Amino acid sequence: MEITIFGSGYVGLVTGACLAEVGNDVLCVDIDQRKIDLLNSGGVPIFEPGLEALIARNREAGRLSFTTDAAAGIAHGLFQFIAVGTPPDEDGSADLSHVLAVADIIGRNLTEYRIVVDKSTVPVGTADQVAARIRERLSARGETIEFDVVSNPEFLKEGAAIEDFMRPDRIIVGTDNPRTGELLRALYAPFNRNRDRLVLMDVRSAELTKYAANAMLATKISFMNELANVAEAVGADIERVRIGIGSDPRIGYQFIYPGCGYGGSCFPKDVRALERTARSKGYQAELLQAVEAVNDRQKDLLFSKIAEYFNGNLDGKTFALWGLAFKPNTDDMREASSRRLMEQLWAAGARVRAFDPVAAEEAKRLYGERTDLELVENRMAAVTGADAVVIVTEWNEFRSPDLTAVKAQLRSPVIFDGRNLFNPSQVNSTGLTYISIGRQPAC
Ligand code: NAD
Repeated sequence: MEITIFGSGYVGLVTGACLAEVGNDVLCVDIDQRKIDLLNSGGVPIFEPGLEALIARNREAGRLSFTTDAAAGIAHGLFQFIAVGTPPDEDGSADLSHVLAVADIIGRNLTEYRIVVDKSTVPVGTADQVAARIRERLSARGETIEFDVVSNPEFLKEGAAIEDFMRPDRIIVGTDNPRTGELLRALYAPFNRNRDRLVLMDVRSAELTKYAANAMLATKISFMNELANVAEAVGADIERVRIGIGSDPRIGYQFIYPGCGYGGSCFPKDVRALERTARSKGYQAELLQAVEAVNDRQKDLLFSKIAEYFNGNLDGKTFALWGLAFKPNTDDMREASSRRLMEQLWAAGARVRAFDPVAAEEAKRLYGERTDLELVENRMAAVTGADAVVIVTEWNEFRSPDLTAVKAQLRSPVIFDGRNLFNPSQVNSTGLTYISIGRQPAC
């Protein structure tokens, strides 16, 4: 099948490469000339495990190509995927300008039937807006060409995106046209073989399903973070509580890790956008407001613990940061907890020496001008001569460090762990003070 994908970011590139991998002919369109040049010269603008090889293989096979020519894209595919960004607007609602810009360009260039498939995360009612925009542009040209707009939200996780796309838990397709639903079923058949995971529904329910999933996951994290703070206050250990509650199959062990707050390009903006959507319809989504507020407070927690430990005297100190990405296996630093922490440390006069296995380039792009940030090549280079270690991202390589060597290199023997990676008594046996989330400080 011929497929066009607007947007060559995390979602667009993974979608394009995976659809090409099963034999489709995919053309990816982006407005960022530098990104397209890089892709056309064999580079990949983001870090996602397995993506580089997948793109290379399909480019070489002639099934995957990249362009900035939107009209060529509209001529190419029966399926026109929209996978552009929907960042938060100033008031927290989803900024649809990129999505609607694609709708405009489709409306201006459409010459025959197309299925517009919205993969971006968009508020309920956006498919109607996209259709209205396309119709407006068509009527300005005096044309009445048939098209459909389908909602097909994406559930991939950065860091495991290819596996998620190739073996999805579910494929949500929202359409009011049964024939279009069947065409989408055929498109997804290679990813839907061992049992039927495709859930067909109306467009609005599909749009809401994506927000509901992310809001539920964010709620689990904020719930655990709230409980972690209670555990700390009452002299309990949240890690024992986690194991205690996860054994109930109605709760489960997945996604109930306490920590220093969620970040990334999805949970923060999607919880906010859903709450704003509800508010725009006159409904106060109090649980969603609390999820957001708890997360916001949790992102301040590491800094508060550090400031308390050093009696507020952070000026001139150096902190070794382990992890910059919002989670392991990605270079994405959008709304990462590391950013809040670094900005607070800098404001207090401290310096940061940071190591992340893949996000250094992104950190350079964001903070390259700063003289109080040093990006180093490995975890021990960050530690040497630092006042403390602060763990922000739970990369595997941080899970089993030589703590005796860490202690020997530190000016103050203390580790702040925003991801509860270690057993407190093991850390304490090395003579390090260990301050983590929702557990009792011990030294
Ligand atoms: P991204 O910022 O990585 O990529 C978006 C791309 O769209 C950029 O390359 C940008 O240049 C391009 N673009 C903007 N306007 C364009 C236009 N008019 N024509 C062509 N290209 C254009 O974004 P992302 O992380 O891939 O997210 C895309 C959407 O998918 C968002 O709505 C997001 O919420 C949703 N989503 C993201 C994830 C994730 O893990 N990143 C998962 C599921 C859903």
